[in-house]
Amino acid sequence: MEAFALIRRNEAKIIDLPSPKLSDPYNAILTPVAISVCTSDVNTVYGSGSKKPDNLILGHEAVARIVKVGEKVKDFKEGDVVVVPSMTPNFHDKDIQDGNFLHAGANFSANTLGRSTPGVFAREFEVADADLNLAILPEGVSLGDGLMCTDMATTGFTGAETVNFGDTVVVLGIGGVGLMAICGAALRGAGKIIAVGSRGVSIPLAYEYGASEVISYKDNNVTEYVLKATKGKGADVVIIAGGNDKSFSDAIDMVRYGVGKVVNLKLFTGDGSMEIPKFSSGRGMSGKTVYMELGKGGRVRMERLLSMVKHKRFTPEKLITHTFEGFENVEQALELMRDKGNTVIKTMILTGW
Ligand code: ZN
Repeated sequence: MEAFALIRRNEAKIIDLPSPKLSDPYNAILTPVAISVCTSDVNTVYGSGSKKPDNLILGHEAVARIVKVGEKVKDFKEGDVVVVPSMTPNFHDKDIQDGNFLHAGANFSANTLGRSTPGVFAREFEVADADLNLAILPEGVSLGDGLMCTDMATTGFTGAETVNFGDTVVVLGIGGVGLMAICGAALRGAGKIIAVGSRGVSIPLAYEYGASEVISYKDNNVTEYVLKATKGKGADVVIIAGGNDKSFSDAIDMVRYGVGKVVNLKLFTGDGSMEIPKFSSGRGMSGKTVYMELGKGGRVRMERLLSMVKHKRFTPEKLITHTFEGFENVEQALELMRDKGNTVIKTMILTGW
């Protein structure tokens, strides 16, 4: 079958690989209908992380049609069109009973598609625990809306889940995840939402999704700006969805003492440290809380997001700036996400399958 795979570091292309076989009676085999390339796919190919297996099939964002289900799968059948969450927790591990969904049994155990198990950029792929991880694409929800729930919406909303009514929220970064964090914060009832970023195509969308103002990293000392805007107190919630290595310590600088929350959604590549400033952390006694999050996954999470889309609470497909027809365009889409000019947020590839 055709599969877009990592051949070696810095090289990914479409090659011919064997089709997957059902490895467990709870699993399903699917064919992608619509896929999207993620910044983390770019990192897997061009990043500095540990060596990945040769010919690892990439991709974790897909709306797909079920080809085959294992004999223990109850709720899905061949032909169903489903949203596949980028995070597929291991619901059979006892750590689930501690509420530890994303790292049950092993660190990053939910984050396997396109990372440690074959991803969705192939004619066929396998998903573990179909009944617990897949969600039917509801009638009236477009492929693009479903596709943008798999990672962007669930991850951005994970950032917004600590927001209370009237909170002042800062969102660092206005790519797909940052825009969804803005949207989630607005839906949670935030007061002022300060978005930080400069990508041209994202700025009008940031306002549309609920930003009160959009400022640029380049023209502002963001920490000073936020402290001034909050009369020195700091923001109630700072969500990191972009920026650079310094964004982590900046976030701690600009969040409020006592109850302030920093939610990190950004992948900090490479080695070294993410620094916590001594002064603004109150010498370690400021009462500020740091969350380090992956987007949440699983079926119920997807069904909840899709219900919000169906009932017009938000429209995530607006993130899609480029649509391609034909699976072969996945290579071009990866390069587009790598260069990420002023006009790119997310791609959608309609596979034609
Ligand atoms: Zn992703």
